[in-house]
Amino acid sequence: VDIGVRVELPAEIFRHLTDELYESKIVYRTEKYQDLVRTFCMNPKGAVVNENTNGIVTVNGHSYEDPALQTENTNFALLVSKHFTEPFKDSNGYGESIARLSNMLGGGVMVQRFGDLIRGQRSSAGRLNKSFMTPTLTATPGDLSLVIPKRILDDIIEMIYALDKIAPGTAGDETLLYGVEVKFYNMEVELDNNLETIHKDLYVIGDGSGVTHSLSHASASGVFVARHILGK
Ligand SMILES: Cc1cc2nc3c(=O)[nH]c(=O)nc-3n(C[C@H](O)[C@H](O)[C@H](O)COP(=O)(O)OP(=O)(O)OC[C@H]3O[C@@H](n4cnc5c(N)ncnc54)[C@H](O)[C@@H]3O)c2cc1C
Repeated sequence: VDIGVRVELPAEIFRHLTDELYESKIVYRTEKYQDLVRTFCMNPKGAVVNENTNGIVTVNGHSYEDPALQTENTNFALLVSKHFTEPFKDSNGYGESIARLSNMLGGGVMVQRFGDLIRGQRSSAGRLNKSFMTPTLTATPGDLSLVIPKRILDDIIEMIYALDKIAPGTAGDETLLYGVEVKFYNMEVELDNNLETIHKDLYVIGDGSGVTHSLSHASASGVFVARHILGK
């Protein structure tokens, strides 16, 4: 399962990246735990939205092609993958529990300013209203440190400071963090390194394989298998 937050900041901060590449995929290995944190689902001039999965409210984002519907903010997810070994195997259940906790405390999606998180204080409606940035989603101001496990939160904070080096302002006081964002994985089909199943000449490409989890990854898996078959 992938667990993290949705980051929202003024579009200007990421403009030099999003003008060149609509969806940049940035991966960072943290110094503290050597964990990988990645950006996902970048929405230039987009909106943060609620997502309802079986009654559990999590956060997501989207953006519009029509300039009339665009906002002044950019949002993207910061995700940390969590895998479990023995004896616990239900990683999706783990993600679901964290999302339930955020729903219990926030009544839905929770939002916190990055500055408040660093100072160890919950965000309040008053502090949010004083910000120059207008949130695109109405969420409950709260304290994400009461919801997200320490290791994952440390990873996210370290990533935000790393992003601040390539996009100054990312680690600003008013950067908004919405939680939680959870990406559940599909079951994995048994495949070899060429994405071929145990049944000869039957390949599985895309997310149905349980191996890929994004547009570019799913597309690349198709090209990969096509090249493999042509090369046989
Ligand atoms: C809300 C949401 C937001 C996302 N945001 C991003 C993002 O920002 N960036 C990113 O990289 N990825 C994102 N993803 C993930 C991305 O959409 C998937 O990784 C990608 O679409 C997988 O491609 P695919 O071709 O494997 O499967 P799909 O795109 O799911 O295509 C499968 C197709 O098969 C069709 N189908 C299913 N069953 C049958 C059947 N029996 N007969 C005929 N047709 C059938 C379906 O209708 C569908 O059109 C997001 C996913 C969701 C749900």
